[in-house]
Amino acid sequence: MAGNWKMYKTPTEAADFVKALAPQVKDVHDKTMLLCAPFTALQKLSDAAVGTNIAVGAENLYWEDEGAFTGEVSAPMLKAVGCTYVIIGHSERRQYFGETDATVNKKLFAALKHNLLPIICVGETLAQREGNETFKVIETQINGAFQGVTNSHWTSIIIAYEPVWAIGTGKTATPAQAQEVHAFIRKLLPKDVANDIRILYGGSVKPENVKELMGQPDIDGGLVGGAALKVDSYLKLIKY
Ligand code: PEP
Repeated sequence: MAGNWKMYKTPTEAADFVKALAPQVKDVHDKTMLLCAPFTALQKLSDAAVGTNIAVGAENLYWEDEGAFTGEVSAPMLKAVGCTYVIIGHSERRQYFGETDATVNKKLFAALKHNLLPIICVGETLAQREGNETFKVIETQINGAFQGVTNSHWTSIIIAYEPVWAIGTGKTATPAQAQEVHAFIRKLLPKDVANDIRILYGGSVKPENVKELMGQPDIDGGLVGGAALKVDSYLKLIKY
């Protein structure tokens, strides 16, 4: 269950979240709990998470290790502040910051090179869904993002299906709609690894709908924005 905090939480707020959450989830062994935070909060967040079963991730990275790339943050820098995961190609990055399947692919390889587990986001807009283009869009995004990926890489990769029309809108894909696309994505993956790859659903997951969504055979977890911002609500997602 991955939380995506987007542009919320100071370093102190991030650390306080983990201090409140950790004692309540110390007996959770059947789920991966991951909090993805703004760059500025990562050090304090991972310091607070030491000795807990909570993992820390970033929301973005740049593909070069270092250099004259003002404002960017690299995979080695994320490793140095305790990240083990990184979200790549979130729809907000694609929509507002010009990310494409080609940049997602470069970022994916940068993450893999430094043993960061990438969470690759794909998803269609409302216009694309209404135009019956969902499967074509997803296939193009998957093929572009994973160009050049070999079998040894696949099991380190996590995919998040996030219909753009469901992110932050309160509109959730029905479990059947989500399952249909998850099954489609799994079919696009190499047969020998497809069942081992975690495919997360994202788009207004909340305590009221988490159980039904997670009950779908091809939904392996969630990528959650709003409902992961408060300890009580995140806890309900973990203990559904
Ligand atoms: C997200 O940030 O990836 C997301 C799915 O947000 P929300 O849960 O708020 O829709």
